[in-house]
Amino acid sequence: MADRHVAHLLIGGGLASASCARWLREGGAEGDILLVGREPDLPYERPPLSKEYLAGSSAREDAFYRPLSWYEEQRIEVLQRTSVMKLDVEAREARLSTKEVVSFDTALVATGANVRRLPVDGAQLEGISYLRAFGNAEQIRAEAAGRRVVLIGGSYIGCEVAATLTQLGAQCTIVMQEDVALSRTFGLDAGRFFQSRLEEHGIRLVAGVSLERFEGDGEQVQRVVTSSGEVLDADAVVIGAGVAPDVMLARSAGLALDEELGGIACDERLRTSARGIWAAGDVAAYDSVVNGRRVRAEHWDVALQHGKTVARSMLGEDVVHDVVPYFFSDLADWASLEYVGPARRWDREVVRGSFESGEFSVWYVDEGRVEGALSVGRSDDLDHARRLIASREALDDVSVARLGDAATDLAQIGAR
Ligand code: NAP
Repeated sequence: MADRHVAHLLIGGGLASASCARWLREGGAEGDILLVGREPDLPYERPPLSKEYLAGSSAREDAFYRPLSWYEEQRIEVLQRTSVMKLDVEAREARLSTKEVVSFDTALVATGANVRRLPVDGAQLEGISYLRAFGNAEQIRAEAAGRRVVLIGGSYIGCEVAATLTQLGAQCTIVMQEDVALSRTFGLDAGRFFQSRLEEHGIRLVAGVSLERFEGDGEQVQRVVTSSGEVLDADAVVIGAGVAPDVMLARSAGLALDEELGGIACDERLRTSARGIWAAGDVAAYDSVVNGRRVRAEHWDVALQHGKTVARSMLGEDVVHDVVPYFFSDLADWASLEYVGPARRWDREVVRGSFESGEFSVWYVDEGRVEGALSVGRSDDLDHARRLIASREALDDVSVARLGDAATDLAQIGAR
């Protein structure tokens, strides 16, 4: 027997749940909304963790999705430091770590992702951090400012954290498997542009190697050894080796998973295999009508947009999730990028503007279809990219070439 009943149970204390709660109320939901999350803080945006919050120039509250008073006004109950231990999708009941059993009409599983840990020798030494929550950022700032820091991973965390810590006076070295930083998502040419910004500010990049082990005399990390045998002195280490969707609850509840993408398998409406239960955010692998395939995208805006779609759907609307995933990244104040996609593979990169001018967009095209676009200083291009990505239209060679001709109005490209 349940201890109580709610109309909407939102599992996971991140942005997907918070956004869902917001849009439920904005859509006229009158029943009880219960949001259950493990973290001690209210739902918050993670982008500041590698930027202004890491730099110490913003407060926790600045990153909150909404202040506490908003949740109270909106009658959204938030349980912090609380986990859902068991989800019974048939009985529509959840058992919380507080032992309370809650039954529900509809539920959202937005359990997010956990950092991928690297189990190498020396991984237990002190001074080695991952970045996922406020506390991690505080620890990294305290340990790394003004010292020798080695970053593991050549993607967002590695590059953004290196840039921020460099501004705090640290000497940073990035150890990465990629040949060029950020090239997995943006390709080699744009990757070189970002890598030069990092190098110009004194960051060293050790490319094309993996992490072999950490060494220390005593408890504290002191050296990083790469697969090529290079030994790097380190006072602190930050690892950004990706995340893995947290499907533990979903798996035990028997929800269908997408083993390849590593998330909860959802349809184009973000519905899971269980009636009345949706998934959103990092943990949702969904059939994307705009990408023409199943995708999983781990960015804050995606979580917000998913939450909105799920809220409308919970309220009985027939909503297909048709928002093109978007994110941005800042390397200190040296370079800012925005991206829509995600392109998984492409056979052509078309550049509009120029790398030399520092204002460009790169169009990732596969068999004539625009799959993704990157902008540095050309945000307006992304509206056209969104339209072309969502259209799934295969452009002819002339149209693809015109994407790179700054004299061509992008509105003229593709069927209207
Ligand atoms: P990520 O973007 O998934 O990149 C993972 C990085 O770890 C890649 O450089 C990858 O190299 C490397 N890696 C994977 N396995 C490794 C191993 N065994 N040894 C060494 N390197 C390894 O993840 P992230 O940069 O850690 O970011 C974590 C999450 O935060 C992601 O969801 C990301 O989207 C999000 N985030 C987003 C932003 C933003 O949107 N601006 C900023 C920060 C973080 P290979 O590619 O060679 O495998």
